[in-house]
Amino acid sequence: MRFRLLFLHNQGIYQLNEDVLSFFQNAISISRFNRNRLFTNALKSVVENSNDLLAKFQRVFQELNQPNINKQNVYDLILHNNNVVQLLTNKGFPILNFPSDDYDELKRAIKNLYLFLWASTIKTVSCSNNYSSIQEHYRLLDELNHFTTRRICTFCGLEKLKNPKEKRNEYDHYLDKDHYPFAAINFFNLVPMCDSCNKAPNKGTQNIIINSIDGARRIAYFPYDPVENFTVELSCQNIFSLNEQWIVKTSPENLNEAFETWKSVFRIDYRYSNYLNDEYSFWLTDFISYFNNTVPNDLGDLRLRIDQYYNFRLGCAIQPGDFLEFQFWPYVSALDDDDLSLFLHLLQQRHTVLNN
Ligand SMILES: [Zn+2]
Repeated sequence: MRFRLLFLHNQGIYQLNEDVLSFFQNAISISRFNRNRLFTNALKSVVENSNDLLAKFQRVFQELNQPNINKQNVYDLILHNNNVVQLLTNKGFPILNFPSDDYDELKRAIKNLYLFLWASTIKTVSCSNNYSSIQEHYRLLDELNHFTTRRICTFCGLEKLKNPKEKRNEYDHYLDKDHYPFAAINFFNLVPMCDSCNKAPNKGTQNIIINSIDGARRIAYFPYDPVENFTVELSCQNIFSLNEQWIVKTSPENLNEAFETWKSVFRIDYRYSNYLNDEYSFWLTDFISYFNNTVPNDLGDLRLRIDQYYNFRLGCAIQPGDFLEFQFWPYVSALDDDDLSLFLHLLQQRHTVLNN
């Protein structure tokens, strides 16, 4: 994680998940479908505006009342699987499933219900009126985090999130909704991220707490926890030549499984390396412009200018990808004379191109 995202408390939209949980709790002692007893007023109002949603609740209720179904166990299991923080951060916290085949139909019905709540219900006017909207959540979350994250994606640090006045970014189901449908409308599990992070081959629909290679349980960062420091190390093959290749390697300050999960799920090192290879050409242009479109004549002057420019850049407002540029200039500054001569030559070439 590049930055910490602060959790937005006390939002009306959070109550939707609570009210659905109440339905399962109320259903334990009720054997005949009764809207007034099963639903809170807000949820009842939303259900009464959607026959599809009503049908999905009725189907779940019917399956809950089949023989061999222990309704208390079902409620406990749904509650357990809504404990997103424990599932993410505590390897000893089990991922529970239904006890037998008798629960297959019920399981399907519950999953359909939650997926419908996410894909349809939560976007309706009736939901906004009775709870609140995701758009409003996005706007307030942006407001809360505005000055610390500067609307930069907290997962990669490379892309900007959308301005809530125009649009919003997709909310990622951090625990994917296919494996963890019970947490599909739980806002501890919903987090906006940039389009690149959100889509395959980056996070996409990966099961973040199971290692896809060996199937082992693993832990992951909770996106609203404080971030951990890590180091970013650059190296370069065939530096400043036609076939140069920059490589970025990130490492945690303390050995940490959650860091490795983040790095692998979001393909961090691969993306950072690509970013550096693509972007640094623009950094050179900015460097030349900063010194009134001139290039130094010798290595001594070049080293002075790099230090001066690096200090200037550190003082600028933070932009996506800056943390990589902040590694780049000290790296160049520390090169030996032979490699730095290549860099000077590259700058001179760029200067000629820019002035033609
Ligand atoms: Zn991102």
